[in-house]
Amino acid sequence: MNIYTIVIISFMLCVWIIETATDLLNLKNISDEIPQEFEGYFDAQKYKTSQDYLKTNTVFSLFYSSFFLILQIIFIVCGGFNFVDVFARSFGFNEILTGLIFAGLLMFAVEVLKIPFSAYSIFVIEEKFGFNKTTAKTFILDILKSWLIAGIIGGAVFSLMIWFFLHFGSLAWLYAFAAVTVFELLLTFVYPVLIMPLFNKYTPLEDGELKNSVENYARQENFKMKGLFKMDGSKRSTKTNAFFTGFGKFRRIVLFDTLIQKHSVSELTNILAHEMGHFKLGHIRKGLFFSLINAAFMFFLLSFFINSPFLFEAFFMQNISVYAGIIFFGFLYSPVSFITEILSNIISRRHEYAADNYAVRTYKKPLDMINALKKLSVDNLSNLSPHKFKVFLEYSHPPMLERISAIRRKTDKFKN
Ligand SMILES: [Zn+2]
Repeated sequence: MNIYTIVIISFMLCVWIIETATDLLNLKNISDEIPQEFEGYFDAQKYKTSQDYLKTNTVFSLFYSSFFLILQIIFIVCGGFNFVDVFARSFGFNEILTGLIFAGLLMFAVEVLKIPFSAYSIFVIEEKFGFNKTTAKTFILDILKSWLIAGIIGGAVFSLMIWFFLHFGSLAWLYAFAAVTVFELLLTFVYPVLIMPLFNKYTPLEDGELKNSVENYARQENFKMKGLFKMDGSKRSTKTNAFFTGFGKFRRIVLFDTLIQKHSVSELTNILAHEMGHFKLGHIRKGLFFSLINAAFMFFLLSFFINSPFLFEAFFMQNISVYAGIIFFGFLYSPVSFITEILSNIISRRHEYAADNYAVRTYKKPLDMINALKKLSVDNLSNLSPHKFKVFLEYSHPPMLERISAIRRKTDKFKN
């Protein structure tokens, strides 16, 4: 084994150790006592179930991450990448097609290996805790559809990358970045309209009390409603959720049907006010901006490493190629993406506080907002006492108790 292989494997081990240690800290942080704020929402039994759910999922994810870590290390050390590369080259195609075969085979193998894990997660864990509604047919169709989409989009982007780095020398990273920017913008428009409907049914919210309440609020806030949709989340799970997506004409606010069943009109309007807050405060734009800066940085670094012989030595390759360079760079980049992920979560958590604040300030029913958050936690068996470090590393939303106390601090000003 050469020094470069050792560096790459150490990176992988470091990330795994940090994540595993965080998960263990997180498990140690649970307590039997129901937080005062949630008394009357969680009974002792249900609260215990929520902790069992956390334990089960933590053990599962530990098993999952260890399995793939060990597999990847064995694959690297045994020269698996070179083996696949020799096979891809045996067809005698050009570099782009060869690259597509090389990456396609690797991705396909990973995806197939993931199937038993996701089946276990859905049909054993989610089932046991009463969440699962997914049928075997939906499960299989979901996999096939996501492969098709990943194949088309991933294949197109990967081919372009190879082409740029083959033909544009030291400026290739700029072209690659420009292409990814265009792709990402295009996807933001296209995703809600073309891709999401492949997985779920979206129906405009029907006339009635809820729609009236939301439209009144939107009018008051001068918010042009573009699309307010109900999604058949119950097709897969009893879990509740709401989200916003898209830009301009294609923007949508989506409520899960399961959420509508379980919340009052005022709670739902609060949840929507929060989502509109994300729009009004420009969070989508800011998120996109951050991910583009991130991409620029990544491509810039990639341009330094893509042809480095040491990178190919690390993976025991006989031949140097642009396509393999891109994939190997992914391993090298993992500590950096570990950090950018943390930054993006910090930004996202701030946005959540800001959107909560926006909802409370404009809809002026903070107690219903607090109720909505509590019901969301109970219905989804959320962990009420995550460890601070876990939150810092992985939480895109602040823990519920912190969101609630942030709202309470403002409640004096707005009484329900
Ligand atoms: Zn939000």
